[in-house]
Amino acid sequence: MSKTIIISNRLPLQISIKKGKSVVTPSVGGLATGLKSFHRDGDSIWIGWSGLTTEEIPEKLLNEVSEKAKEAACIAVNFTEKEIEGFYYGFSNRSIWPLFHYFMEFTEWETWHWETYKSVNQKYADAVIEHYNDGDTIWVHDYQLLLVPNMIREQRPNANIGFFNHIPFPSYEVFRTMPWREEILNGLLGADLIGFHTYDYERHFLSSVSRILRYQVNFNEVSLPDRMVKVDSFPMGIDYKKFEQAAIDHFENSLENQSDLQRRLDHHRKGAPEAKLILSIDRLDYTKGIAHRIRAFEYFLEKYPQYIEKIRLVMLAVPSRSEVPQYQLLKKEIDGLVGRINGKFASVSWTPIWYFYRSMPFTNLIDLYASCDIALLTPIRDGMNLVAKEYVASRKDQTGVLILSEMTGAAQEMNEALLINPNNFEQISDAIHQAIQMPEEEQIKRNKILQKRLKRYDVEKWANDFMRALCKTQENRQSNKATLISDDIKESILSDFKKSKNRVLFLDYDGTLVDFVDKPEDAKPDGELITLITQLANMKNITVVLISGRDKETLGTWWKEVDVELIAEHGVWALKSNKEWRLNENVKNDWMESIRPDIEAFVDRTPGSFIEEKNYSLAWHYRKTDPDLGEKRANELSNVLKDLISNHGLSVLEGNKVLEIKSSGVNKGKAATKFLLRKESDFIFAIGDDWTDEYLFMELPESAITVKVGLKNTNANYYVNNTKKVRELLQGFLRS
Ligand code: UDP
Repeated sequence: MSKTIIISNRLPLQISIKKGKSVVTPSVGGLATGLKSFHRDGDSIWIGWSGLTTEEIPEKLLNEVSEKAKEAACIAVNFTEKEIEGFYYGFSNRSIWPLFHYFMEFTEWETWHWETYKSVNQKYADAVIEHYNDGDTIWVHDYQLLLVPNMIREQRPNANIGFFNHIPFPSYEVFRTMPWREEILNGLLGADLIGFHTYDYERHFLSSVSRILRYQVNFNEVSLPDRMVKVDSFPMGIDYKKFEQAAIDHFENSLENQSDLQRRLDHHRKGAPEAKLILSIDRLDYTKGIAHRIRAFEYFLEKYPQYIEKIRLVMLAVPSRSEVPQYQLLKKEIDGLVGRINGKFASVSWTPIWYFYRSMPFTNLIDLYASCDIALLTPIRDGMNLVAKEYVASRKDQTGVLILSEMTGAAQEMNEALLINPNNFEQISDAIHQAIQMPEEEQIKRNKILQKRLKRYDVEKWANDFMRALCKTQENRQSNKATLISDDIKESILSDFKKSKNRVLFLDYDGTLVDFVDKPEDAKPDGELITLITQLANMKNITVVLISGRDKETLGTWWKEVDVELIAEHGVWALKSNKEWRLNENVKNDWMESIRPDIEAFVDRTPGSFIEEKNYSLAWHYRKTDPDLGEKRANELSNVLKDLISNHGLSVLEGNKVLEIKSSGVNKGKAATKFLLRKESDFIFAIGDDWTDEYLFMELPESAITVKVGLKNTNANYYVNNTKKVRELLQGFLRS
């Protein structure tokens, strides 16, 4: 049975050595929860570092540790202290982390860090290979493992590999400063699907790929010489139910069971009617904007002194990466700032900042989320920021105000929060003021919308969506059975052509006989093409059919002088050499119910788009969406529709910022079939470049030679790379 292999830097469990024995405790992080449905015994294994270096695990316990990990379907990979220093504290956290968060001044480019990063990535990849069987799905996580996808691909070319990046991907201008940028991009492109939290990270990545590696990028697909890589955004959610339930339990907790922390929080809030608590929670990391936040809070107290002795900032900073010098400096800076501000504003009964430098157990986190009136989260950069989502999910009565930096991934989905620029103290202090003043009805109104969204797109849905998209890439790959036309294949086609008596050539026009240009009216046939088609049409025992989506007027005018047959507007019109245009028509609407949910899924993921339902068609409008995102999703949707509608006789019309799916009952395949009914043939050849030609490839008899232009999924038997190759192939017929 095929399984899923999840691979991340750390395993979803904590292993420690106590009194000469190994102790394993499961971790409850978001990733572990999100993937739990895949991570069941038998269905999946999880590969990662145990958290202990080989020096820390006594040799006699090595087996025990790996056995205990195995019981939880985990494979522990072990590293030495030196490896962790170079790979984790070195390249991961002193090079990639600062660069990807736009802290270029903190980046260090140590060759030995990079070399260790490579060799450790190789060890992870080897561990995957060791446990990999054909048909397994591999999901690689995060910035510590950027090289792993291609390291696996090199050893298992047909594996189905996904990668998700949990941190931002910086703009090309920043990314290009990385000395090993090509290796990093190629490493990632080993995957079939690369996921990011937001569309911005995705487009930064694609722009780096097209500028640095010069690969062709079509919307969200990268064309490699031998395969396609899909790139998409999947904003990670939280385990919503867990936080919702914890908040319910919190309020049902009896007074005597309350934590000390809760008592202190209640004491403050009951101290004065206007008393309020502002919460901030982060790992102590320079990306989180903690120093900015404290300064902005100081500015707030200066600007709005009426809140002195009433408002308190409860600040939880979780120790993190304390081996890295910047983190040590930051700790000093924060300690100093908190001390200075508390000293400046404190009275006998009040200190403005409660500062905790530690991690807290889950129940205390819930105490904080449930008790604080405002959450103030001001990262300078943050891939997502789960704390923002957890705060909102834990607001049982739907009150509370979230002030959130617009530089977080979460801000893209949390428009109802008060969004601020973390560098603008004026704006932050005004937002705090606005939050304090905000009427409860408004708080509830905002949180209701937020909660609904978070509940719908929770971490499980995130993981499912990613896995579904990953499986789809595999299906697409398998359905692409076309073979590149080699010299031998060409010879064999030409020999069949030569032997035959009644030849029919179906030739698509744009993208097949001519390249695309900015303005369609400029794509007139050039002299070389007119000569080529005229000569072909004048051969004996041959009918050349130009079959195109173009309107009949344009085609008719361009090819007036040449003895070819024309099929226009995807088969709506047909013209036998120089006779009248003939119309085909057949309209239905019973397909709409089944196709609508697939379009709705796009509406969900594309803010600003909507569906218009007409009598015989469905239109998906995207004029109001982000223009780049709209185009990309339109492309994606038409690909999805192409699969869905292939057996329904439907067609998709691409209008101006709208895709319209029509039951026209007309397509190139039907038109060609109709054509063949009145024409005897013993050699059928069809060539085209886009999805409208797929109908042709599918509906022609099996003996037909069908050729796709370009490396895309197709129903054709063969493909050629470009229009130049098309013309060379057609020239071959002339010489036969
Ligand atoms: N968290 C925790 N213990 C604490 C404080 C925070 O487990 O004492 C959790 C918090 O609930 C959240 C995560 O740490 O799920 C922080 O995630 P976020 O995306 O906000 O930041 P990251 O640390 O991933 O940069």
